[in-house]
Amino acid sequence: MPADLVLRNARVDGYDGDVDIVVRGGTIDAIEHAASVDDRCPVVDAAHRYVSPGLVETHVHLDKSCIVDRVQNGEGTLAEAIREVAKAKAAFTVDDVHARASRTLERAIVQGTTRMRTHVEVDPGIGLRGFDAVRALFDEYAWAIDLEICVFPQEGLTNNPGTEALMIEALRRGARVVGAAPYVDTDPHAQIDRVFAIARDFDVPIDMHLDFTLDVTKMDVEYVCAKTREHHYGGRVAIGHASTLSALPARRFDEVATMLADAGVAVTVLPSTDLFLMGRGFDHDVPRGVAPVHRLVRAGANASLATNNVLNPFTPFGDCSLLRMANLYANIAQLGQPDELALCHDMVTIRAAQLMGVADARVAPGANADLVVLDCLDRVQAVAELAIPLHVFKRGRMTASRVPAMLHRP
Ligand SMILES: [Zn+2]
Repeated sequence: MPADLVLRNARVDGYDGDVDIVVRGGTIDAIEHAASVDDRCPVVDAAHRYVSPGLVETHVHLDKSCIVDRVQNGEGTLAEAIREVAKAKAAFTVDDVHARASRTLERAIVQGTTRMRTHVEVDPGIGLRGFDAVRALFDEYAWAIDLEICVFPQEGLTNNPGTEALMIEALRRGARVVGAAPYVDTDPHAQIDRVFAIARDFDVPIDMHLDFTLDVTKMDVEYVCAKTREHHYGGRVAIGHASTLSALPARRFDEVATMLADAGVAVTVLPSTDLFLMGRGFDHDVPRGVAPVHRLVRAGANASLATNNVLNPFTPFGDCSLLRMANLYANIAQLGQPDELALCHDMVTIRAAQLMGVADARVAPGANADLVVLDCLDRVQAVAELAIPLHVFKRGRMTASRVPAMLHRP
């Protein structure tokens, strides 16, 4: 088979100096010095820059992105964000969600994201309009990104009749993950129980919003770990936020970290949202509310860093850059050593892919050629300096590119 592409003069983790990446059939066929390929093979010159695995977004809400101009955002609390989005959602149409979700998805692609799990909410108010709009993007953007939907009840499950039937219908129509938001339910544990039951019926993974508070008396993480063990679901459960972990004393944190590692429950931290919404009751010494997931990794659990919300009352910011999330996390978690910055990159690439059940998302022979040429020399510099993605490839085909900045001297 002729090669689809050779990416020359690339810096790759685990290789010395510049190497060439040869792609055949959408897969990395070889990584070698001065690879010889057919003259007709397309060549892209990485020009001695770092080639990262495609970035992996484990947690974003495409359906409610880009609505800051339609909502109040005065208090900056979680309650206000849920309330305002619930109001705005009534006016969502399939076309409206499709347009906003496409815009957000395209920004993510340009930032180097090649795989994404998006949460989509269903309830009797929105019905399946949000789901149908986002579901259409699977095929429309398959050339650039692998997209999967985690369907979840943002406004509660056991307290919101009709919601479970909609979640089940969404799973029948192609949602691949079931989610939860127990903290908005009148009976959080009953919601968790139902979500495990649905997951088992459909044989799909679970990705819950959990413990999105600084009140450590309201933690559900231990309950979720127990349910994960009971259902033999280790490796297929993730939780997002887990802000309470940021409020635990070290010894207690270590106990929970060991429990997460043993149960096989991964944690996604959402630094931008957590920083924006947590600690609103404080007028000084405001806590950060961001779970120290690098310490979970040291304890043997898996973790990822993700975007969560873009331009809505949960997070009125966003450029869909996962490298910015890695940098933001490193900054607030006070991580500056090379191995620590490398871990932050892993949490938006290989560890994020692992959370989604994709075993090997490295730049290595046999892996999908999902690649990003970053304007830097290695992954440590990528996180420290917020390196710009210059070329993005999905299965070896270039999907986005930009020109490096140039000075125009007099
Ligand atoms: Zn979320």
